[in-house]
Amino acid sequence: MVHWQKSLISFVFLSVMLAFAYLQTQAPAARADTSLDYAALSRHVSIIAARPHPIGSVANREVRDYIVEYFESLGLETEVQKATVVYRHPFQPESATAIGHVENIIARLPGTSRAAGKPVKDLVLMAHYDSRKDGPGAGDDASGTASIMEVARIMAAGPAPVHDVIFLITDGEEMGLFGAQGYFRQHPAARDVGLVLNFEARGSYGTSSMFETSKGNAWLIEQLLESIPDLNAGSLSYEIYQRMPNDTDMSISRGEGIAGLNFAFISGLYDYHASSDTPENLDKDTLAQQANYVLASAQHFANLGEWQSATGNKTYFNIWKGVVVSYGQGQAVIFGVAVLLFGLWLFVAALRSGAISWRSLGTGLLSLLALIILVSNVFESLIDYQRTADAGIARLISLGEWPLLAYFVTTLGLVGWFAHALKRGFGKTGIYIVVSLLALMCLLAGRPWLSAVVLVLILIPVLRFIGSRASPPNLWAAALVLWWLLAALALYLAPNASYMFIWPLASVLLGVALLGRYDNSRGRFVVVLASSIIPLILLPPFIVLGYLALGSTMPQGIMILTALSLLLVWPLIRAIGLLADGKLNMAILGAGLLMTAVVVFGRGFDTRHPLGEDLFYAIDVDQQQGFWVSSDVRPGSWLSEFMGKDTSEDNMSRLLPGYEQEVLIRETPLPRFKAATLELSNDQSIDGKRVISLHLQSPVGAEYVNLLFPTDAGISSASVNGFPIVVPGTKTEVDSEIKKADAMKEKDKTQSEAWWRWRWYGLPEEGADIVLTLTADRPFEVKIIEVDYGMPKEAPLRPVDSMPKPYTWSDSLVMFQTLEFD
Ligand SMILES: [Zn+2]
Repeated sequence: MVHWQKSLISFVFLSVMLAFAYLQTQAPAARADTSLDYAALSRHVSIIAARPHPIGSVANREVRDYIVEYFESLGLETEVQKATVVYRHPFQPESATAIGHVENIIARLPGTSRAAGKPVKDLVLMAHYDSRKDGPGAGDDASGTASIMEVARIMAAGPAPVHDVIFLITDGEEMGLFGAQGYFRQHPAARDVGLVLNFEARGSYGTSSMFETSKGNAWLIEQLLESIPDLNAGSLSYEIYQRMPNDTDMSISRGEGIAGLNFAFISGLYDYHASSDTPENLDKDTLAQQANYVLASAQHFANLGEWQSATGNKTYFNIWKGVVVSYGQGQAVIFGVAVLLFGLWLFVAALRSGAISWRSLGTGLLSLLALIILVSNVFESLIDYQRTADAGIARLISLGEWPLLAYFVTTLGLVGWFAHALKRGFGKTGIYIVVSLLALMCLLAGRPWLSAVVLVLILIPVLRFIGSRASPPNLWAAALVLWWLLAALALYLAPNASYMFIWPLASVLLGVALLGRYDNSRGRFVVVLASSIIPLILLPPFIVLGYLALGSTMPQGIMILTALSLLLVWPLIRAIGLLADGKLNMAILGAGLLMTAVVVFGRGFDTRHPLGEDLFYAIDVDQQQGFWVSSDVRPGSWLSEFMGKDTSEDNMSRLLPGYEQEVLIRETPLPRFKAATLELSNDQSIDGKRVISLHLQSPVGAEYVNLLFPTDAGISSASVNGFPIVVPGTKTEVDSEIKKADAMKEKDKTQSEAWWRWRWYGLPEEGADIVLTLTADRPFEVKIIEVDYGMPKEAPLRPVDSMPKPYTWSDSLVMFQTLEFD
């Protein structure tokens, strides 16, 4: 076989494998063989997600009524659980307290076991009905809610299941998992729950996958695979998710020791918590898949007899859509150790035969280091440049998976070019040109000049050293050694996550062993292709999902993994580059850089991907002044036109002392308004301490109220509607989330620590009662910030390519006031 043939075959082979891998991350076409009514499913979504409906809003109460009426129409015993939930989120600083008034929807389908007098545990199907104020929440989480409603219809019409099935549609998930806390920590029926299936979303399309389980999942996974043969799931995602700060309602049930399985889809991050999370933008196949997952898993678990309690954990992963491999942790360890030993044996044999030496391995590892620095620097510069551009990261996210393709081609070109340069030897001039270009990129991207200096100091000597000594085989050997180490580390830390390293390594090592047995080039080429299959099945979907999950803001990590994966299948990549003596590598690199440039400088925002712009109306109650405020200090054209010439650059501390943030402010005539009241209803002395009772009420029905108490007011205990509130400086109850929280500690350090902040959601119309015990008898101030979602009628109309900026007070009326108590 001549070079161009091998080169072409390898390129086509790689492209086809990657295309297959990408398809794995997409939802399959909606199944026809199901009892689900897809039209009804879409109707539910379009009604629930007709507009934003955050906790405490009128729109949310309408959604609640719609769901309650629907469950009642099915003949299900339906209840609305009103609960006050008070907690301190472990990721927030100590001085942050959250309070939520939730209305959970609970419908029950009685099972046969209870009637027969031999009750078994209840099955909970869970999703949340509230959205954020920033978007209508079609994906998050009307998709889950609608799926559960449709499954309730099917199950209520069918034969009674063995287990009672509870359709739990929680409220207030978005602002702090309030509904789940209200149910699992306060509802008397929660103690009978044996299993929770939770359905969530972080985007608008892509395959739904079962990404989280409770501990001891072996039996659950076996049963789940029986119920959903075409499941998409991987035990690696479970291991990763456990170590991430993300939370869903299942964090609460799992924290209460209840078994659970968690499903979500994550493609289309741009629509997450944004005004574009609309029914039209929610992929129909994804919705259908989610609903089919609910139906299949619910019917299966509800009809099993007694569920088994926690057993060991399992390894499970897809090798193709609908093909899941699973085995126990014990087997994972045995396979893993066997592969590692095989690798060690090959290594020793290669050392003995002189195929590699410690010296060649050393230069190989140095080359690997240089390549990783190269790749990481390119992508770190790129992302830092985007950060300095207006809404640059948002623009990247709006492009979905396209940036990943551009980055991938760039990395493929970089790896090929680098290896080819190793083969030829780096010329001195070449080294200085490349390193200076990289340093220049560093500086242009606005990174600290120190990183450019460090780059020059490390890369120049390393490249000069390896220039004449290293070769591509050294680099490959070093990459295999690194994969071996990563596999060993994964096996040690999380055996059920090690498959992602162990199987690709095993496949390539087998190829290495076989390569030695073939001396004809055709045979060797077949071995090269065959040994690349497993790595190309397992690694690319992980890279795509990794990019979607967290890579859009830190592509350097994902691209280092990509470079290491390409090196793992190096003989294949080398075969691609055979053509035209390495010039093809340069062409690929050039194409990648061009694609990356299009991604970075290309498309702006449009109707489908509107630009998030912050604008809210502020009333300073104390000064009797009205303002338009925006945290976008470099506003887009619409916003800058509206803010006009009278705008001044200012600081949030003008409205809220202690909260430093640059903002644009424009004064505007004050409309008529009614601010919240905090009235003293009782003031007495008990055991030498001053106990005061206050009544908080918001006449405008603000969905979100902040109360700020000075930390030096001497508050020793506090309660809301009789629920105690943990005072900062005292210990909270031990929470399963605390562990995760350690990693996120001190996040909000910028906020003033002078205030104890209560974030209050869904304050009822009749208000709420607060009781404070004060150790000191001195006057103190309370600040109230009322956030009433929705703009006053004087607000400007947004153009279609602009949306409220997520995670801000955008499109709200915000009232600031200070009250004195003496
Ligand atoms: Zn959600």
